[in-house]
Amino acid sequence: MPEQVKCPFCENSVDSDAEKCSSCGAFFTEPQLKEIKFKDFGIFFALQILTFGLFAILWVFINFRAINNLTVNPRDSLKFKWLAAILGISIIGYIGYILSDIELSHRVACIVIVIQHLIGIALSYRILKIIQRYTLNRYDVMLELNPYYIIIFSVLYMSHFIDTYSKRVMSSHEHFSFKSPQGVALLILLAIIAALAGFYYHLNSINSPDLESIGVQTLIKSNFSD
Ligand SMILES: [Zn+2]
Repeated sequence: MPEQVKCPFCENSVDSDAEKCSSCGAFFTEPQLKEIKFKDFGIFFALQILTFGLFAILWVFINFRAINNLTVNPRDSLKFKWLAAILGISIIGYIGYILSDIELSHRVACIVIVIQHLIGIALSYRILKIIQRYTLNRYDVMLELNPYYIIIFSVLYMSHFIDTYSKRVMSSHEHFSFKSPQGVALLILLAIIAALAGFYYHLNSINSPDLESIGVQTLIKSNFSD
């Protein structure tokens, strides 16, 4: 039996090794996901962009053991062979994209992006559910998951969620606002990405025949030949 001490907030007696007061709910230590590496959202985001989204899967490999150590129910644990298959498919997708010619690579790129996003949603959901159950079991706190954010932002939401974990558990997390300095910085970043994507698309349309105008011409031709 651990020694009993008084809670400094409500004066009820609690175990000396308790992390949280069972009477008033005050935290004695900051709840953390200690074993998980690369928790910083900024670093995660930068590495995601630099690796064209491949980093998220590597992140799961790096944190594979740490995440599985959090599982309350062994059935929830991540399976190594599935992860290896996902990584394999992603790498094959990238190689296919790099090796294929420009006209085909647009289609391959679209497929790679869609598959990658779906994989990201599935992985984020699994990992956030594991963290949610772990937190309920350990701290008796039910963390809220936003299903729309999981679908839209997938691994970015997961990374932000993990980065702000302790505040979420202590329910002092300030929900994201586009009016905050971070929100303005994010909007500027998105504008830069959109501009770069537009510039890249413009360069491609100069080098290769404009697919849209070809489509219009065939449509006109086929209308006149009837
Ligand atoms: Zn207390």
